[in-house]
Amino acid sequence: MITSKMLIDGRSVDSCSGKVSVIYNPANQEPVAKVSLGTRLDARLALEAARKAFPEWSGTQSHLRGEMIHRGAGLVRRNIDEISKLLTQEQGKPFKDAKREVLAAADVLDYYAEEGKRIFGDWLPSTSKGVRSLIIKQPIGVAALITPWNFPVDLLSWKVGAALAAGCTFVAKPPSLAPLAATAFLQVLNDAGFPAGTVNAVHGPGEDVGAELVENPISRKIAFTGETSTGRWIMEKAAAGIKRVSLELGGQSPFLVCEDADLDKAAAAASQRAFSNMGQICISVNRIYAAKTIAEDFADKLVSRAERLRVGDGMSPEVDLGPMFSQAQREKTEAHVADALEKGADLLCGGRRPKGKEFSKGYFYLPTVLSKVNHSMRVTREETFGPVAPIIKFESLDKAIDMSNDSEYGLAAYVFTSSLSTALTVAERLEAGGVGVNLNNVVEVQAPFGGWKQSGLGRELGHYGLEEYLEVKHIRLGL
Ligand code: NDP
Repeated sequence: MITSKMLIDGRSVDSCSGKVSVIYNPANQEPVAKVSLGTRLDARLALEAARKAFPEWSGTQSHLRGEMIHRGAGLVRRNIDEISKLLTQEQGKPFKDAKREVLAAADVLDYYAEEGKRIFGDWLPSTSKGVRSLIIKQPIGVAALITPWNFPVDLLSWKVGAALAAGCTFVAKPPSLAPLAATAFLQVLNDAGFPAGTVNAVHGPGEDVGAELVENPISRKIAFTGETSTGRWIMEKAAAGIKRVSLELGGQSPFLVCEDADLDKAAAAASQRAFSNMGQICISVNRIYAAKTIAEDFADKLVSRAERLRVGDGMSPEVDLGPMFSQAQREKTEAHVADALEKGADLLCGGRRPKGKEFSKGYFYLPTVLSKVNHSMRVTREETFGPVAPIIKFESLDKAIDMSNDSEYGLAAYVFTSSLSTALTVAERLEAGGVGVNLNNVVEVQAPFGGWKQSGLGRELGHYGLEEYLEVKHIRLGL
């Protein structure tokens, strides 16, 4: 069995403690690999390496930084099968989805390799005679990048690309239960020839290794994706050092199907976004509000799609959905479905584990559609993070918008309609960082991604994402 090591100061290293942990496959609970289990000391060594590398990397011209990032993206593509296999085995998602994720990560690196050349400043007039103001932007320093298990490579690339392009060095901490693909991605990237200490990766528990990255004065920027409760804790701790923080947190995304929507398109989009990655997506469809007149037709179409999805081990090419990531995730989903049924929801399909020997050891669960759902149920209040599509009928669009906004989260929202006027009116009124109109995805590499309310702070992707790693300096000139 391979041991995935950490990357500190350009070298592949074991933990100072010598300890390892074992990563298991959620499809069959078989061991996949061992992982060096880092400590606070390892995190400190990685931060020191990143601090040492900062002058050289931040002083490198942006087009040369871009060339190296492009080279790294090329190496990621060349190693796509190896990285994707690790991703499927540790996380569960189908191999074709894992490949799509790794490819998307390489594309993000390529985008930032170019965007890093567009760190522009300003030249301003003054109210005083013979004075001008020059505004420049400079890399903030060492960044700590802390990421979750649902898209461990893609979500990491959003941070890595922007940090490197801005001229920051970094220490990444992948999720403890799925660190293999993320670490392989960083190792391959590092082979592009970055100065030693520019790219670092440490493993270990969030409350220990992650906390060190947040609390240690060397890190000047914390980029975090994960649960809202963890984000709140990180924000509190980062306050002690007045550090720049960007937080991509939980979601509870509404999906509005208006009377004039193309129902086949809407059902296909809802099915894909509610069930892919087993619903373990921050922008997953969590609440479907369907106009009363079309709700039943829409539900039939959604159920027929859900029932056609093939569940199984992600390494099998015929599979649409793998297992859930963990027993805890599956139990939470089961508890949310049970709560909805107790409070009066109807089960239209799924709602249980699949039967059969091939499913006996994995954390499998069938895609589930519920109707007669209301806002007293956990599926509408909390983040289920499971393959569940709850449907609520609405009589007026105003009411549907109010219900959509009745959530502490505000990450993504979706509206399906054939009226441009309805689309824009609804999109403007939805409280979310991204709104998909007749689309089920709000991720676009050039565009900002992030949440309103308790879904987060700051933006990733696009030029907005780059700004999160830059400081602004005013140079006042007496001519
Ligand atoms: P967690 O918040 O549990 O963990 C995320 C990362 O933070 C892990 O690397 C974890 O380490 C680390 N961590 C945990 N505690 C601390 C701490 N005290 N200090 C520093 N780091 C810590 O999230 P999950 O991994 O469970 O991910 C699922 C969540 O991520 C969902 O809520 C989902 O909505 C959200 N998410 C948000 C996205 C967005 O863009 N808004 C996108 C994708 C997911 P360890 O693994 O060791 O616990």
